[in-house]
Amino acid sequence: MSATAKAEPDQLTGDADSWYLPGSDIHDKAAPDTQIQSQWDQHKFDMRLVNPTNRRRLSVIIIGTGLAGASAGATLGEAGYQVKSFCYQDSPRRAHSIAAQGGINAAKNYRNDGDSVYRLFYDTVKGGDYRSRESNVYRLAQVSANIIDQCVAQGVPFAREYGGLLDTRSFGGVQVQRTFYARGQTGQQLLIGAYQALERQIRGATVQMYTRHEMLELIVVDGRARGVVVRDMVTGEIETHFADAVALASGGYGNVFYLSTNAMGCNVTATWRAHRKGAYFANPCYTQIHPTCIPVSGDHQSKLTLMSESLRNDGRIWVPTSGADKRDPREIAESDRDYYLERRYPAFGNLVPRDVASRAAKAVCDEGRGVGPGGLGVYLDFADAIQRLGRPAVAARYGNLFDMYSQITGEDPYRVPMRIYPAIHYTMGGLWVDYDLQSSIPGLFVAGEANFSDHGANRLGASALMQGLADGYFVLPSTIADYLSLGPYDPVDATHPAAVEAVTSVQDRIAKLLSIQGTRTVDSFHKELGRVMWEYCGMERSEEGLRKAVARIRELRKEFWSDVKVLGVADDLNQALERAGRVADFLELGELMCIDALVRRESCGGHFRVESQTPEGEALRQDDEYAHVSAWEFGGEPSAPDSPGFGDMPKPILHKEPLEFDYVHLMERSYK
Ligand SMILES: Cc1cc2nc3c(=O)[nH]c(=O)nc-3n(C[C@H](O)[C@H](O)[C@H](O)COP(=O)(O)OP(=O)(O)OC[C@H]3O[C@@H](n4cnc5c(N)ncnc54)[C@H](O)[C@@H]3O)c2cc1C
Repeated sequence: MSATAKAEPDQLTGDADSWYLPGSDIHDKAAPDTQIQSQWDQHKFDMRLVNPTNRRRLSVIIIGTGLAGASAGATLGEAGYQVKSFCYQDSPRRAHSIAAQGGINAAKNYRNDGDSVYRLFYDTVKGGDYRSRESNVYRLAQVSANIIDQCVAQGVPFAREYGGLLDTRSFGGVQVQRTFYARGQTGQQLLIGAYQALERQIRGATVQMYTRHEMLELIVVDGRARGVVVRDMVTGEIETHFADAVALASGGYGNVFYLSTNAMGCNVTATWRAHRKGAYFANPCYTQIHPTCIPVSGDHQSKLTLMSESLRNDGRIWVPTSGADKRDPREIAESDRDYYLERRYPAFGNLVPRDVASRAAKAVCDEGRGVGPGGLGVYLDFADAIQRLGRPAVAARYGNLFDMYSQITGEDPYRVPMRIYPAIHYTMGGLWVDYDLQSSIPGLFVAGEANFSDHGANRLGASALMQGLADGYFVLPSTIADYLSLGPYDPVDATHPAAVEAVTSVQDRIAKLLSIQGTRTVDSFHKELGRVMWEYCGMERSEEGLRKAVARIRELRKEFWSDVKVLGVADDLNQALERAGRVADFLELGELMCIDALVRRESCGGHFRVESQTPEGEALRQDDEYAHVSAWEFGGEPSAPDSPGFGDMPKPILHKEPLEFDYVHLMERSYK
């Protein structure tokens, strides 16, 4: 009998609430009980310090060298702790953060246009559709200004105005200009700054760098995170590393959708392995769809390309008024164009938040008014901007993005409007953390895109770089120090039973993957999983679709573990094996994402449930029932290949963290 025929009907049609076990409510206990404006200062004062001579006896493992990991590594190294830093690329500088284009937010109010820490806080809570924790967001807004100072001091070449002051532009969901940028390469320039700071510590031997090492397991000893199992990706050797604390800065999991704007290597393994060891996974279904990406061009594509949101400062988005109008866009008169964002959201126009812009693009394409092959595209038009500013000014602002677009599509965006369509871009979900960025496993800290903390159900543009650097430069160095002040913890080595168990499980899994020798490639599973996720857990989600998705993912996981073909050997460079491990984790994560989406029967931010919308088609939150973070506890190992329920995951356990809004009061989000 095929795996398809074996799907359990009650799991497909039963009450979705029976697909998980209810757990107890959780609360963030780390933020001090005081006015939000003074919480962080108060907390920094309350936290314990470690004197400089004691720091060299304390150690931290950091997984990841993107903006979050590199900034944390550099700062902790500079402070004098022993840091071990890991990444899977051949250089820390190749972390996915390098791809970030448009900019980084900070409440500097250089423009004198009404910005403030409070406004950035307000915009972020509102932009996240009231599904983030106020205390964390306020702190983020507070330290945003320090980030810019730090980066300028490092020599990051931010764009400047004629007077020498740093230039800013607007991103979606706000009415001020608070986004600092370095042309369309902001992430690259920021990462070079953080990387140089990290390299300085590497040379000073406070940081030991392990490139081409992939973390495959977390080692938990007596309830505390104490180490990791990594695979040397060049030799295949399995190694253990130990420390007093572990920090994951391993990025987001958007590649569960296969096609996304993320770098091809981005994956969930580090956080998913920690989740399996007890770290709660928060709001996994909150993913961000970015409205301005180059549309999919064919079946054999493995990557989507972002056109930065900054383009919406000067580009105007439109479709023909009539779906039957197939003329060259330059021949379509103004009166026959629908600038639908400007029409529907006059206050914010083309700069509405990403979730709103993405859904609006989908709506006009669903009406049959989409442009380009397959009708899945809308125009992003610079004709007005070029006329107003001149081509050189437009090229100075966006030249590298225009070049990228023309190299990929063969069209010249200075002459013909760009065609764009929404694509998976970022994941707001991630490991649950408290105000200290500590997960539910003591000693395991999580930073950057890997945690869930600041963006609620929808991240505003240019705030991921801000969060990664806030976490790494300013938050972790204080909160990890507080944790380490109680150390050093008891020494642990590779003979500890917890380490032996972790290494054995990694070796067994690798051996199993190599032994199946089935008929399907790893990529074919990944592609199919991605299609299921995009179709049912993408821009629009429904009860019926999500049920189908869970059923299909369960089948797919069984097929994977019985029919995948992984070529090569364990003790050598083996990219098929690397990908197989990552896809195996995506197959577990995908199911949890769909269950999370299914039980959250409301629309909020990037999570749009068709059953919960206003008569105008806007997202309709259900605050009475869902103003909480969903923090999932791992339910247990899937059943073994020789058991009847082969591959089934035990029910995950749902803990809720109620969200309180004392400062930014709950209201319907409007950008009209
Ligand atoms: C095309 C694009 C453009 C963007 N533009 C912007 C922008 O303009 N502004 C903005 O604010 N945000 C932007 N973002 C989002 C932003 O770039 C990311 O959210 C952010 O850079 C993530 O940083 P990070 O440090 O958390 O993770 P990453 O930069 O993804 O780094 C992850 C690190 O973890 C390591 N790692 C992961 N797993 C393992 C493992 N198992 N073992 C060992 N190492 C591991 C990797 O090697 C890497 O070093 C953009 C995103 C994309 C895709």
